[in-house]
Amino acid sequence: MYDVPAEEVARANTLTVRDPVLRKGQRLFIPDAAPLIPVITLYPSEKWQYIIIHHSATDEGNALFFDKAHLRKGWDGVGYHFVIDNGTKGKRDGQIEVSPRWLKNMRGSHCRADGMNYRAIGICLVGNFSKDQPTPRQMQALVDLTAKLMKYYHISRSRVMGHGQVRGASTECPGTRFPWGEFNRRLNADLRS
Ligand SMILES: [Zn+2]
Repeated sequence: MYDVPAEEVARANTLTVRDPVLRKGQRLFIPDAAPLIPVITLYPSEKWQYIIIHHSATDEGNALFFDKAHLRKGWDGVGYHFVIDNGTKGKRDGQIEVSPRWLKNMRGSHCRADGMNYRAIGICLVGNFSKDQPTPRQMQALVDLTAKLMKYYHISRSRVMGHGQVRGASTECPGTRFPWGEFNRRLNADLRS
């Protein structure tokens, strides 16, 4: 992600490469880092047939913050596969956080309705879109990420939906003000390119 060998990262942080002991939320010093580029690792999988979009319904947050909240609910860590940040809690606006759930190819804990936890990729945007709108950078990140996942897993547009659009779900997530018109327009443009 930073074009720096793992051995150098380990040395700079007094970790052993073979068995690094890391805490959640631990900040690592990356020596001589190239500019951060978003790296979304895609794994071959038959599991992913849908993409479900959520909002956090909070003004602030990040993946670690939701991890703590979801652990308190008795879940096995942050329930989403991806979190798109809004510039709060130390994260950049539009930053895409990849959760351990995605890296480990685990089922979601984000939408029980219609069995979606077992077949849908969960993307959460930080914010409350029943009163606010996603930031321009969050929208850009969401369109980029969704298009990339749709292409790789051959997911059709009709299988990309808001949490509240799932059969049997009763929620207004991702918010009554989520800009579906803009999202569709930009997603279609991306998919055509
Ligand atoms: Zn939701």
